[in-house]
Amino acid sequence: MPAMSASAPEAGKDIYRRLLTYAKPHWRMFLVSLLGMAGFAAADVSFVALMRPLLDGSFVERDPTIIATMPWLILGLFLLRGVSAFASAYGMAWVGRQVIKALRAELFNHYLRLPVAFFDQSSSGNLIAKLTYHTEQVAESTSNALTSLVKDGLTVIGLIGLMLYLDWRLTLFILAIGPLIAGLVTYVSRRFRRISGRIQDSMGDVTHVAEEAITGQRVVKLYDGAEYEKAHFETANEANRRLHLKLVSTRAGSTATVQFIAAWAVAAIIYFATSPQVLETMTPGTFVAFMGAMLSLLQPLKNLTTLNEKLQRGIAAAQNIFELLGEPQEPEGGDRSLVRAEGHIRFEAVSFAYPAGDAPVLHNLSLAIEPGQTVAFVGRSGSGKTTLLSLLPRFYDVGSGRILLDGADIRDYRLADLRRQFALVDQNITLFNDSIARNIAYGALEHVSRDEIERAAESAHAMEFIRGLSRGLDTPVGQNGVLLSGGQRQRLAIARALLKPAPILILDEATSALDTESERAVQDALARLMQGRTTLVIAHRLSTIQRADQIVVLDGGRMVETGRHEELLARDGFYAKLYQMQFGE
Ligand code: ADP
Ligand code: MG
Repeated sequence: MPAMSASAPEAGKDIYRRLLTYAKPHWRMFLVSLLGMAGFAAADVSFVALMRPLLDGSFVERDPTIIATMPWLILGLFLLRGVSAFASAYGMAWVGRQVIKALRAELFNHYLRLPVAFFDQSSSGNLIAKLTYHTEQVAESTSNALTSLVKDGLTVIGLIGLMLYLDWRLTLFILAIGPLIAGLVTYVSRRFRRISGRIQDSMGDVTHVAEEAITGQRVVKLYDGAEYEKAHFETANEANRRLHLKLVSTRAGSTATVQFIAAWAVAAIIYFATSPQVLETMTPGTFVAFMGAMLSLLQPLKNLTTLNEKLQRGIAAAQNIFELLGEPQEPEGGDRSLVRAEGHIRFEAVSFAYPAGDAPVLHNLSLAIEPGQTVAFVGRSGSGKTTLLSLLPRFYDVGSGRILLDGADIRDYRLADLRRQFALVDQNITLFNDSIARNIAYGALEHVSRDEIERAAESAHAMEFIRGLSRGLDTPVGQNGVLLSGGQRQRLAIARALLKPAPILILDEATSALDTESERAVQDALARLMQGRTTLVIAHRLSTIQRADQIVVLDGGRMVETGRHEELLARDGFYAKLYQMQFGE
């Protein structure tokens, strides 16, 4: 019957095989389901086979034993059919949900380990669609396909066997049109695979556009972007609609065509079976059973013609997921372990270009920092300050040159060990949709005591506003902290950094959102925080810069000057100009 593997290229088979490994641990339930499908097929074929004894025995010959047993047989068959149908559906769903869960977990864990550069270049809408939509597609389509293959396949085999038994000449004639159907199916399913893949991509586009409009709604409102977003969404939405319709028209067209071909067979057999010489040898029971088998073939055949479509849809989704799973994760780092760094940091001829950008962002930068020093990085916006510091925890790796921590290349340390050395207050503060306390004591800090959290919040001058909240430290902050002001968010981030016992502190414009008064207060806290730690600070306030042991002036990704405040002013170079500009003296 329709050769479902004929049109699937080798890659498709590999993907299916890989998918099966997810189902493998659940083979027992899988077996239950397969048995259910077999039982279902057996019940259906038996029911058709009963037609002959039913007609010839009961109505023509009036055999009393057949008349007595027939009702019970029919009840028994339908009981078998019902139980089998349940086992097959439930078992398949059970395995399917396990596979969905496993795929989701694997994807999610993979997301957590993908490098920063990957996220720079992907839309979160697409990544989320993979996790929600694609995983469902995989399990649904492949388990539907598998169910159809076994259940309908067995039914078709059983019915054809029955027909051969009833009248082999008629049967062979009907089978002759098989290749015609198979050819059609092959053509149709190729088309399907292409369209399915595009539908999935276009679903990601719809999510992506919607997500941007939703998260960016303030900008959309204020800059009158509704029309632009609407047009943008319309394009994605319309593309999605068209693709779906194309899919439906192909499917509906193919089903109708296949059925019309089958109708020819039905017409032919009626013509043949009613010819005078055949009518003499054929009992009414045989004829009815044969016709019954023929008609019963239509539905499973129809199901089998859409089998490939289902399979291809699942494979397209799986391919999508496996491609993503194939994205290289962050490197593990070396095997050098590090409990607590002293804080010697050396940049040696470091150059760097973002994978997404073409022009180098940092050029041949060399710099030495001693433990306990505070180093301020200054320079115009876009000069590479944030980039330089993001190389330290290996958010990105240097293009050339190297960075040493305590004398060893940072790539030699285990990644987790390396990252434990840094506390970071970022330019973009990330808060999780949880309570204030859980945001301060995030991740590895989860188990610190309430007292410590409160002390950190106190030092960051966050307790001042936290106390004013009705639920105090347990107040939820909303998604990414939307319920807090910029300054409040920054203070929480500082508290989080205060709580982490890391020897190296990176502050990237950590106080930019604070007003002068609270900044002065937080400066105290930061000053305390910096004690005994190596601090790298991208500062925009004079006071921090003046106090620094070393000021590094960046311009266009190059280190143009370095020294202390007075030295640099006296040199009357780049820093002096920047200082004039920013602090207007
Ligand atoms: P600064 O912090 O000094 O304002 P950045 O380090 O953020 O500057 O940026 C330096 C340069 O790198 C800029 O030209 C910016 O466009 C580019 N850049 C920053 N982040 C990325 C990124 N994720 N991908 C590609 N280019 C980036
Ligand atoms: Mg920056």
